[in-house]
Amino acid sequence: MSKNSEKNIQMENIVSLAKRRGFIYPGSDVYGGLSGTWDYGPLGVTLKRNIMQLWWKMFVDDREDMYGVDAAILMNQKVWQASGHVDTFVDPLCEDTVNHRRFRTDHILKDNGIDADGLTMEQMDALIEEKGIKSPDGNPLSKSRTFNMMFETHVGASTDATSVSYLRPETAQGIFTNYKNVVDNFYPDLPFGLAQQGKAFRNEISPRDFIFRSREFEQMEIEYFVNPENWEEAFDALLADTHKFLEALGLPSEKIHELEVAEADRAHYSKRTIDIEYDFPIGKEELLGIAYRTDFDLMNIQNNAGKSMEYTIKGTNTKFVPHVIEPSFGVERAVMAVLAAAYTEDEVNGEKRIVMKFPEHLAPVKYCVSPLLKNKPELVEKAREVYQILKKKHGNVLWDDNGNIGKRYRRQDEIGTPYCVVVDFDSLDNNDVTIRDRDTTEQKRVAIAEL
Ligand code: ATP
Repeated sequence: MSKNSEKNIQMENIVSLAKRRGFIYPGSDVYGGLSGTWDYGPLGVTLKRNIMQLWWKMFVDDREDMYGVDAAILMNQKVWQASGHVDTFVDPLCEDTVNHRRFRTDHILKDNGIDADGLTMEQMDALIEEKGIKSPDGNPLSKSRTFNMMFETHVGASTDATSVSYLRPETAQGIFTNYKNVVDNFYPDLPFGLAQQGKAFRNEISPRDFIFRSREFEQMEIEYFVNPENWEEAFDALLADTHKFLEALGLPSEKIHELEVAEADRAHYSKRTIDIEYDFPIGKEELLGIAYRTDFDLMNIQNNAGKSMEYTIKGTNTKFVPHVIEPSFGVERAVMAVLAAAYTEDEVNGEKRIVMKFPEHLAPVKYCVSPLLKNKPELVEKAREVYQILKKKHGNVLWDDNGNIGKRYRRQDEIGTPYCVVVDFDSLDNNDVTIRDRDTTEQKRVAIAEL
């Protein structure tokens, strides 16, 4: 089997498990779906929240130099004009000249083994012509044009140019527009950061690879404001903190790669960008990015809104517009990396099993409690007692009395429950239970009082 088809099979297995076990469903599935949208089921929403809460704890709660914000998704259209998104947030689009399916030109090149990073649209078109590259359906491709990825909408009852707004394509601008509010309210020492988690929307030309490239997704972003003299120090420190977070997600370090983005490939405002790439089942792809955005965004606001974005060093007359380091994480890509890292196929007593080896602090269900037999009321009663004790303590505890115990274990392995607790007849006499470990499948007796 080729490496590529092996990877596809692994991806298909993860997508299928995600649906079968209630992690992630295709959006609007009952109506035939809506491309590029995904819904989180009961286990997926907990997994996603555990990842987001861990990020918030590590980057906000545990630090003295970070402040949280939660800005509106809809913003004044001037935000997106000033930031450059109205004019330049575009991807190159080409079309199958026969069936009119549309594709991202750089993706067509990539699928044909050509890296299009840093190429202009004209250069991409020239390569397509020179190499005779056809659409995936085997038809000639049109010349490329630019396509703006922002979803446009109207605010209020009128639909003229003044009411135009956009679903935000990144959370960052909601942070920049609140920078001055936080400075005035809290007067933080430099360097300090503002952090935000929330939805972002991009009308991707070809959403693909499960949740990796969606049209609606979530971001976790930090704008870290620094004295321009110290930007390198702050960049390195945030990069190191990012690696600590990825370690806490349980991602193997050998699958994490730093890509120093060349000047030609960087966004126009960035003086340095490092993309963190991960070996996903679909290949090595961007998981997140860290960019030195200079004073680009605050100067834009200062110039366009006519309000000073200067920061005054306490007790001095020294004033300047701070520079910014931006670590930008995609939640869906983090979820996909965690799912892929956890997905394991092994054998227990000669029987194949699928087990999701989530780190314990991310597992959507921490304990599953069962009575050995569900038709023995005394076992059920005792097991309910144990369930209540654990539920009070941990919250994410599941009751499962369906099928035989072997089937329950298989089911819990597939959702990555670290511990299965079983109440049997000995429990009634000894006040203890069996705890089975997900990874080793070893079982031991533990007193209920010690749970
Ligand atoms: P790509 O090159 O893969 O399109 P990007 O460089 O445009 O990504 P950024 O604008 O830097 O992405 O966004 C920051 C992060 O947001 C990305 O690293 C990624 O984790 C996430 N992200 C961006 N676009 C999407 C998307 N369509 N679906 C899911 N996550 C996304």
